[in-house]
Amino acid sequence: MKSLAALSSDEARTLRGVVFDLDGTVLTRGALTLEAYRALHELRASGLELVASTGRPAGWGAVLARQWPLDLAISENGAVAHRRAGDRLELVDGVDASTRERRRDRLASIVRELRASFADIPLADDNEARRTDTTFDVRESMATPAPRVAELRRAAAALGARTFESSIHVHVTLETDDKASGTVRFLSRAFGVDSTSALARYAFIGDSANDEACFSAFATTFAVANVREWLRQLGRTPRFVSQRSEGAGFAEIVEALLAGQRGGA
Ligand SMILES: [Mg+2]
Repeated sequence: MKSLAALSSDEARTLRGVVFDLDGTVLTRGALTLEAYRALHELRASGLELVASTGRPAGWGAVLARQWPLDLAISENGAVAHRRAGDRLELVDGVDASTRERRRDRLASIVRELRASFADIPLADDNEARRTDTTFDVRESMATPAPRVAELRRAAAALGARTFESSIHVHVTLETDDKASGTVRFLSRAFGVDSTSALARYAFIGDSANDEACFSAFATTFAVANVREWLRQLGRTPRFVSQRSEGAGFAEIVEALLAGQRGGA
């Protein structure tokens, strides 16, 4: 991983947008700092398109798309997207309503089995706002030992579900997209870019294991300094890393991007 000073102006100027993770990246211990929120507004004012891509629930995506300076909010690890369309909010689910209902029923029975064997791991407190996955809280309110988290993921796989692990959660899902493929699909749909140019012209900023697909797929990738806790689990590391962690690191990356766009980097 290189320092932000290594970002060239040429690379910064090719970008038309920025895709970023929330927890551990924009959010600092789950909260939005003034510094990070200001960085979001500065990024938007520069004319770049802003896209949040998070493992958090679709219900959060709806609020983000309404209230934050965003062009698109992708939630549940690439499964669902929200955008403003005039005064209305548009929801895009990757599958039709009957497929969604069938998947929800099947997922509910898988989660019942998991909960019977993993009563020590609580469900996350944001499941009511979810459409496509059920999420266990492995590090948000308490620390679950890593081997136990691995057991949970293996058990879910044995029942036919996929899992994604973020800095705080394990998501259990029947969706076929990962954060990168889902994000690229929604970028194409929302902005009319083909997938090749989406991967070349949107930078990605993240921090942990569920960002790995995006670190692999996008050409210009950044992480905040706390990514170092996850390096052993990441098959592909981001190209650039900030010195500071979480929201402060996000603001540092935004500053480097804007300096690069102005040609002063
Ligand atoms: Mg994160």
